[in-house]
Amino acid sequence: MYKYQRLLILSANLPVLLAINIVIAFTLVMTDMYGTVIGQEKLCWLILLISVTAFRYFVHSYFSNDNKHKLDLHFVGVVIAGLTWAFYPSLFHQSMSTKETMLSLIIFCGMSGGSVTLLSCDLRSAIAYVSLTIFPYSVVLIMSGDPSLESLGLMGLLYGVALCITAVKSSRIIFSLIDSQAKVEAIASDLEIDSHNKDQKISMLEQRDMLTGLLNRKSFISAITLIKAKNNQHRSLNGFVHIDIEKLHNVNQNYGHQYGDHIITKVGEVLKNIDKFYDTCSARYGNDEFTIHIKVNTEEEILKFIATIKKQLSVYFQLDNIRVKPDYYFGYYIGDDSISINQAMRNAYLAVTQGKKSNTRVCCYDTKIQEDQQRNQYLRYHLKAAIGAENFFMNFQPIVRCSNQEVHSFEALVRWKLENKNISPAEFISVAEEHGLIVELGQLILKMSIEALADMNKTHPSISISINVSVIQLEDDDFISYLQFIMNKYSVNPANVHLEITETAMISNITKLTNRIIQAKEAGVMISVDDFGTGFSSIAVLRNLQIDYIKIDKSYIDNICSCDKDKSIVSAVTKMAHTIGTNVIAEGIETDEQLALIGQSGIDFYQGYLFSRPVSFKEAVHILEQEKQRKINK
Ligand code: C2E
Ligand code: MG
Ligand code: MG
Repeated sequence: MYKYQRLLILSANLPVLLAINIVIAFTLVMTDMYGTVIGQEKLCWLILLISVTAFRYFVHSYFSNDNKHKLDLHFVGVVIAGLTWAFYPSLFHQSMSTKETMLSLIIFCGMSGGSVTLLSCDLRSAIAYVSLTIFPYSVVLIMSGDPSLESLGLMGLLYGVALCITAVKSSRIIFSLIDSQAKVEAIASDLEIDSHNKDQKISMLEQRDMLTGLLNRKSFISAITLIKAKNNQHRSLNGFVHIDIEKLHNVNQNYGHQYGDHIITKVGEVLKNIDKFYDTCSARYGNDEFTIHIKVNTEEEILKFIATIKKQLSVYFQLDNIRVKPDYYFGYYIGDDSISINQAMRNAYLAVTQGKKSNTRVCCYDTKIQEDQQRNQYLRYHLKAAIGAENFFMNFQPIVRCSNQEVHSFEALVRWKLENKNISPAEFISVAEEHGLIVELGQLILKMSIEALADMNKTHPSISISINVSVIQLEDDDFISYLQFIMNKYSVNPANVHLEITETAMISNITKLTNRIIQAKEAGVMISVDDFGTGFSSIAVLRNLQIDYIKIDKSYIDNICSCDKDKSIVSAVTKMAHTIGTNVIAEGIETDEQLALIGQSGIDFYQGYLFSRPVSFKEAVHILEQEKQRKINK
């Protein structure tokens, strides 16, 4: 054990020890301190000792401390040296005087005493050296028959035993020191490994998505930058595929987030496998969205690749006893190295957005999307400025009672002119929704509409106004308080304020909106469901929320004269609405035939170009004045 460390200590001491050996041997043999003449035997012995010392030095300097035999060779050297010393008294003591014998033993004892400490990191060497240098000499003296030498020999034996005990103790101390040092080194190395592991973990957390283990968006960009730099000779184009899991929020809502997370994890596993088999790099782009980079030459290649992923992803994912088979939207973009990674990723993302709008499962980024995107940016930019400058105005379209052709209310429709061109509200409202501008714009519309209502009610107190509200606007926590503030400011009757919510938006957000609709009703305003028939609302929802009006979508009215089915639907819906106390408005009446048919269906009100297009506030008031005049004239 600890051979290396013990050899290190030995190496530090050995040259001194060997030098002392030589010096003492020379002293004993060469000097005339004992007054004897140097004999040949003594010279031979000296040569033998020098040879043994040379061997020991050779072992010390030739073999590295890592050599597993070095300590044993060292021990052999010690034993041979010990034996050489042991020969000395047995060969020469006969010719020595008592004084010489005593001095020699003292020198031997001194030499062994010094060596014990120096050799004690190899206990067997220390014991062997002490035993071989002192015990034979002591035994020779005990057996000499000279009483004074006998007692000297006895003392030598005792001293030898004491040195052996010292060797054991020193050896133990050295071992425990080496052991403590080894422990300290092990702790230091553990700490180093620990901190290295922690560093690795931190950098993994920075680069990877926690849930799937895929790269996150930031490190994906760095990875693709490297891939692009490698310059693939065979495939020159960069393909980016964006994947969106359809309606994952429904899974979260219906079963809990752990099921949604499970699906995301499984999709991540599939993509990691794909990366192993194809030369691709996948990342988690956002919540339920993923992005993949692949090098291709043609569009066909990327379509083939998408078909493969689609197949692998279109499976049931099971957790507990819930089995879900999600659907996906894929968007892709192919470009050369000149386009930035961010832009390429965004293009693939825009392709998915377009796919969702047109219900296309695999959609390519094309010039149409590019133009739409440019238009979107252009509108967003100007919309912001227009909201700040309150650069909008309202048109009002009459909603007329079928039974007597009297104006019952007006739908307030926002108008915006940009660079002298009318922009359709259907277009800019969705841009405002997309870019978080709708709440501010919605407040402006509420203010303008209710201000107009207040003016109309001065002369026509029964007229109401229908205001379109977006779901995002409704979800805003300040919506109800702002509505109340504006109604109070212009002192309007809340019953004359109707809020129009489109059916599709209302149904797909019903859990969030129910409370808001209840609050609005508590504030005294009326609720209309716009574009009715385009969504799938149930009679129970309409009844529970006490919806006041439904506006049957223009698409049903368009066909009412030619399609018996649409006519029957309109009649049935009207009857059903009446049973729960809801009024029915027909949208988009353009002809007398349509008007006649909706009258037969029992519809309460209508709106459409037949009666009037959306008009300015002044014209709306004029319509009301004309109607008043007609009544007077009757
Ligand atoms: P909507 O709420 O269903 O509004 C009715 C749309 O149908 C209006 O188009 C109106 O001009 C049009 N219309 C009415 N009668 C006829 C007809 O007989 N024939 C035809 N072909 N069209 C008719 P507009 O003003 O372009 O608004 C389109 C959509 O934009 C609205 O649909 C509504 O969803 C949204 N919108 C308009 N103003 C606002 C607003 O102030 N706030 C919000 N959030 N959305 C608005
Ligand atoms: Mg409307
Ligand atoms: Mg409508």
